[in-house]
Amino acid sequence: MNEETNLAEKYRPKKFGDIFGQPKADTWFRKQVISREGRSVLLSGPHGTGKTSLGLLYAKALFCLGPEDGEPCGTCDRCKEFGDLGRGFLDFQRFECGENSKVEEVKGLVDMARAAPWIGKRRVLLLDEIHNLSRRACDALLRIVETPPAWATFILVTSKPEVLPAALRSRVTHLELGLLKPEVATRFLASICHAEGLVYDPSGLALLQAAAAGHPREMLRAIEKVTEFGAVSETNVRLALNLDFLDRLVVYSHALLDGDLKRQLALMEEWDETPSRKLGFLHQFFVFNYFVAVRHLDRDDPIMRGLSSEFHETLIDGMAERAYRLHLPEEAFWENAIAALAPRDPLSEHAFAMIVSSFNRLVNGLPDRGESQTIARSVARAGHKLRIAGAAIESQPTLGNYLPWREVRPFWEAGSFLPQHYGVLLNLRLTIRHGEFGIQDHLVGAGLISSLTHELGMRLKEWQSDSNPRYHWIYRHEADTDGYLLTRLALSVAEDHLAAALHWMRFKFFARRFASEVIPALTIALRHSQNPRCLLRFNWACIRALSRSLDPALLARSEAGDRIPLVELLRIPHRWRGPTGTVHCAKRREASKSIRPPAQLTAAAGRMPFLSALEDRAWKALDQGWELLEHRDRAVEVQRRQEAEGRVRGLFAGDNELARARCAEEIARLRARFPLDPKKRLRTWERWRGPG
Ligand SMILES: [Zn+2]
Repeated sequence: MNEETNLAEKYRPKKFGDIFGQPKADTWFRKQVISREGRSVLLSGPHGTGKTSLGLLYAKALFCLGPEDGEPCGTCDRCKEFGDLGRGFLDFQRFECGENSKVEEVKGLVDMARAAPWIGKRRVLLLDEIHNLSRRACDALLRIVETPPAWATFILVTSKPEVLPAALRSRVTHLELGLLKPEVATRFLASICHAEGLVYDPSGLALLQAAAAGHPREMLRAIEKVTEFGAVSETNVRLALNLDFLDRLVVYSHALLDGDLKRQLALMEEWDETPSRKLGFLHQFFVFNYFVAVRHLDRDDPIMRGLSSEFHETLIDGMAERAYRLHLPEEAFWENAIAALAPRDPLSEHAFAMIVSSFNRLVNGLPDRGESQTIARSVARAGHKLRIAGAAIESQPTLGNYLPWREVRPFWEAGSFLPQHYGVLLNLRLTIRHGEFGIQDHLVGAGLISSLTHELGMRLKEWQSDSNPRYHWIYRHEADTDGYLLTRLALSVAEDHLAAALHWMRFKFFARRFASEVIPALTIALRHSQNPRCLLRFNWACIRALSRSLDPALLARSEAGDRIPLVELLRIPHRWRGPTGTVHCAKRREASKSIRPPAQLTAAAGRMPFLSALEDRAWKALDQGWELLEHRDRAVEVQRRQEAEGRVRGLFAGDNELARARCAEEIARLRARFPLDPKKRLRTWERWRGPG
C-alpha cells in the first residue's frame, strides 16, 4: 500500500456514499448489509477504480455491529478494530494473489473459510488480483465458492475478469466498476479541491480529468502533483502532468509531412515519457485532428486544446494530397493510418520506434532513393540510340529483284528473340520446291505450307503432353528461275520429336497428297546435337538462308564507322546474294504466333525489352549466341523483380484500403525503377560494345 498517496489515503471512501459514479455497486452492497445476506462478490474494473477500497468497505460493513442504512457506522468496536484496511482483524483475511501463489496457500484460505468465525457471525476473505491464480488454485477456490459455509463471504477482486473460468464468474455476483464519466470526474475533482481548499479553474479541472482518463486514484495523485506547482490551473496541470507536448506533436507532424523519419524518431526519443504513453498521446492527437479538422465534429479534448487552425490546415492539406494520389477517400486515409497508432501496453522503446516507422511508411510510402532520375536519363539515351539505328541503313537504287531491308529484318529479329525469350534455337530447315510436286499456282503452294505448319502443330500437341509444346516456325516464299514457288521453312521443335515430325511429314503429310516420290521436292536439314556451337551455327544459317536476295546495294555503318554493304555486315554467303523471281501471293513470309512481333512486344512488356545486336550495329555479335546467356539472365531478373515486389508487399501487409493503395503505388514506383534500357540490367556475360 506504499503506492497510496496522501490524498488517496485521505479520500479513501469511508462509506458507500463516498464513492463517485458507481450507483449500482452502492445499491447492491447496502442491500447485502441490510439483509445480512453477505453474498460473495466478484469486483472487476480498470486499475484505480476503487475495487479494493470497495471490497474493504463491504467487509467492514458486514462486521459492523450497527450499520446505518447499509453503511458501516464507523464508531462501534468492530468498525474501530477493522479500521480502513482490516489488518489483524481476526475473522477477516486478505490475500494478494501473485503469479507465484501456491495451491497450498489457497487451500489454507479455503480451510480457514470452512472454520466457524471466532468472534462474530461472519468470516470474510478478500482475494485481490485473482486472475494470477493457477488453474489448480482456481479449482480449489471454485469448490468452496459453489457450496460455501453459511458464514463465509468471498470478495474476489480482479482487473482481468475475462481470464477467469466462466464457472467461477457465474457462482458469484459480478459487479463491474467503470471509469468515471468526464462530468462525474470533474465533480469529484471539484469536491476534492473544495475539501482541500485548493484554488482551481474549470479548464484546469477539465484537463486534469482528461489526463487521468476517469481513474479516481490517478486523479488524486494528479492533484497532488499539480499542487506542487500552485493552483489547479491549465498551465500548472500541463507542467505537472507532462502534458506540455503539443508543440512537440506539431513539430512531429511537420516532420511526418516532410517524410523525415530521422527527425520523427529523434523527437519521439527526446520526449520524456513512457513509450506506451507516447503512443497513446500520438494516437489521441491524430484522432482529435481527424474529428475536428476532417469530420468537422466539435470534440472538446482539453489535452489537445490550443492547436492553431493554421496547423490543422497544413496537416489536413498534406494528408488530403496523399489520399488523392492514392485515389482514396480522405476519411479512409486518416482512419487506416490512425489504426497503425492503436495504443498498446506494455510497449518497449524499440517497438514504439517501429510503430513510428511503419506509420511514416503508411503516410508517405517508401523513401525515394533518387534512382528514378538516373532511370529517366538512361531511357532517354536508349530512345536516342534507337533513332540513329533506324536511320543507319541507306539505300541506293538497284536493278533486278532484290529484297528491301524491311523484308529481311524480321527474320533477324525473330532469330534473336527465339533464344532470348524461349532459350531455344531453330533446329530444322526445309526447302520445298513446289514445282517438283507439280504445283504451278503460287497460291496453292502457299496453302500447302499453311496446312503443313498448322497440321504439324496439331501432331506435336498430340505427341507432347505439354499443352504448349515447343514449336516455332518461320518461312519465306520465293520464286525459282523457272517461276515456280519455293519455300524455305525453318523450325524449332523439341529434339525428342524431330524424328517423328520428319516421319510424319514424309509419310503422312506429303505422301497422302502426292503419289510420286517426294524426296526431290524436299531438302531437309536438321541439327540434333548437344554441341551449342553447332546448334548456333545452324540457327543463324537458317536466318541467312531466309535473308537471300537482300539488296546488295544497301549500305550500313560498320562498327568502325565506315559504310559497307549490308550483305557483308550480315555475312550472307555470296551464293545467296543473287536476285529472286516474283512471288504471286499476298504473304511472302510468315512466322508462328509465338515469335511474331506482337509476341515480341508482349514478352518485352513490364520493362523487360530485349537486347538487339542489330539495333546497336554490333555486327560481330550478331550470331555469337549471347542470346542463350541472356535468356538465363532474364529469368534471374524476373525472379529478382518478383522478390522485390514481394518485399514491398510484406511492408504493407495490413488489410485495409490505405495499406493496399500504398502497396499498389509502391509496386508501381518499384517497377518504374526497373531499368527500361535492357543494357542497364545486371547480367553474367559481357555485352558487346556498340559504336559511340
Ligand atoms: Zn460499526
